[in-house]
Amino acid sequence: MRVIGTAGHVDHGKSTLVEALTGMNPDRLKEERERQMTIDLGFAWFTLPDGEQVGIVDVPGHRDFIENMLAGVGGIDAALLVVAADEGVMPQTREHLAILDLLKIPGGIVALTKIDLIDDPAWLEMVEEEVRETLTNSVLAEAPLVRVSARTGQGLADLVEALRVCLASRPPRRNLGRPRLPVDRVFSIAGFGTVVTGTLSDGALRVGDEVEILPGGLRGRVRGLQAHKQKVEIAQPGGRTAVNISGVNVNQIRRGDVLTHPGDYQPTRRLDVQFHLLPEASQPMKHNTEVKLFLGAAEVLARVRLLGTDSLDPGQDGWLQLELRAPVVTMRGDRYIIRRPSPGETLGGGSVIDPHPRSRYKRFSKAVLQRLESLASGSPTDILRQVLASAGIISLRDLIAGSGLADSEAEGAIAALIASGELVSLDAEGDRASFKGNTLVGNERTLQQLIARAVREVESYHTNHPMRRGMPREELKSRLKMNSRVFNVFIGKLLSQGVFNEVGPLIQLPGFEIRFSDHEQKLIQQLLERFKTAPLTPPTVKECQAAVGVEVYEGLVQSGQLIQVSSEVVFLAEDYQRIVAELKALFEKHNKLTAAQVRDHFNTSRRYVLALLEHLDETGVTVREGDYRRLR
Ligand code: GDP
Repeated sequence: MRVIGTAGHVDHGKSTLVEALTGMNPDRLKEERERQMTIDLGFAWFTLPDGEQVGIVDVPGHRDFIENMLAGVGGIDAALLVVAADEGVMPQTREHLAILDLLKIPGGIVALTKIDLIDDPAWLEMVEEEVRETLTNSVLAEAPLVRVSARTGQGLADLVEALRVCLASRPPRRNLGRPRLPVDRVFSIAGFGTVVTGTLSDGALRVGDEVEILPGGLRGRVRGLQAHKQKVEIAQPGGRTAVNISGVNVNQIRRGDVLTHPGDYQPTRRLDVQFHLLPEASQPMKHNTEVKLFLGAAEVLARVRLLGTDSLDPGQDGWLQLELRAPVVTMRGDRYIIRRPSPGETLGGGSVIDPHPRSRYKRFSKAVLQRLESLASGSPTDILRQVLASAGIISLRDLIAGSGLADSEAEGAIAALIASGELVSLDAEGDRASFKGNTLVGNERTLQQLIARAVREVESYHTNHPMRRGMPREELKSRLKMNSRVFNVFIGKLLSQGVFNEVGPLIQLPGFEIRFSDHEQKLIQQLLERFKTAPLTPPTVKECQAAVGVEVYEGLVQSGQLIQVSSEVVFLAEDYQRIVAELKALFEKHNKLTAAQVRDHFNTSRRYVLALLEHLDETGVTVREGDYRRLR
């Protein structure tokens, strides 16, 4: 199944030609019929003599609606550029051609239509020459030109044959096993519910598949699939596809959303792109310009960060980082168009180089520009290296996805990177066979840098908090900006290698101890004396802090010399051990005891006993039953 898209100036006969080819009137909406204009994307299809089905995306030519065209024209196999023989090349003929160029539509056919209106062969010759000249250096430079009349049917058979030859030479659509359907229409059918349509790419969809609607992340299930009004069990990439989804309402989906398998794609608000400013553009492209981005079927406002230069002249190429107002779903290699919002003008476009750049770049950084160069033109190995460099630690599956490479292309490069030791794993060892999709991998150097960084973080934590035994795991995780899965595997590896010790929820460098200065030692000695003289009515937390300072007090607790049992009550460690042992023996003898009985036994005050017993309840030594407690 193939998809072609029409292009050409308004009223040049696109819809009429589509109807002549397919027998279908693509003017779908009532309003369109009333105004006799195709204002939304219309779809029709026909079957070539060789049996291949061809879907036609008929895009409108009216100036106001050029942006509508952009939603449909991505993902087509060929363009059908329609030029009316009586008028010849018009402004939108050129603008559409420029868009086909920017989207790198791989060629197509030019239909010189309405030839029934022309009696003078010299006029036809002249118009043909003008068209040829316009096509020079465009994606349609080599396209066959066919003279037709939709009204009389003249030349239609030649047009069909030209389309057959053109489409037969197209390679099959790539299948990365990660389907995505940029939604260009959403509607509901009574008795079926929500239906979305679009041109499917990068993988197949099956009835029953769980799907996700991005960027919102809604989940649903494929209830039914249609390709050209035929029910199918599997929709293959490259075809016009209608998906009946259960579990999602029509008003929850919008044109520009992308239907995928859950987890396959991450929406993004920042893109690195290669950009070509059209020679016809009315102004240079400046840093910080606000533009409209057209990508897949999505249309979002974006701010241009111009990299490596302050301004691009018409006709020039450059690198942009786009900051988007709303998230989109895309991958490396996707083509896009940029327009000026008002007055509307197609400025240029190009391809997505990195859909998930790590950060906002310094605009004139050499390293950034080099990285973009090699992402744009590099070998699979270079591309994987770049993705790894910006991702840090990433699952093997996400690495391949992020590279935009087909599995087969990525495979050889990955095996080579593993064999050379450049690509290492946190949770697998050995050759490619031991790596699975969810295996976490990283560049050997990046990994070493991350380890060094983690060590530095913990070191500096020790320096800043000499009275604490270590850095809380959560704090280290957020410092390293890792997600839980990556962090757990990463830290697990470092703990097993002895790079760090773990003390409860704290991460510590081996050999770290809490150390006190001579002056602090003196204060501590004095404090400890006070504990020794009254083990069962020791100084309170506040008193201790006043005596040695808050930090040192914390050090005494962290290092285990003092045991704090409540916000107020603290015991010397050896007293605490002795009291707990004695208490346990007491419980064993009496089975159950009230707080008052415990207080009488130790001959201390209620305040200490309650704090201690509650602490023992919490730590699971005792359990409370009404007024009594017993051993757990
Ligand atoms: P679109 O805006 O490019 O889709 O143009 P339409 O298909 O709506 O055609 C615009 C006008 O041209 C309509 O009035 C058509 O009837 C007329 N038209 C289209 N094709 C032909 C043709 O081959 N011969 C003649 N004489 N008129 C045509």
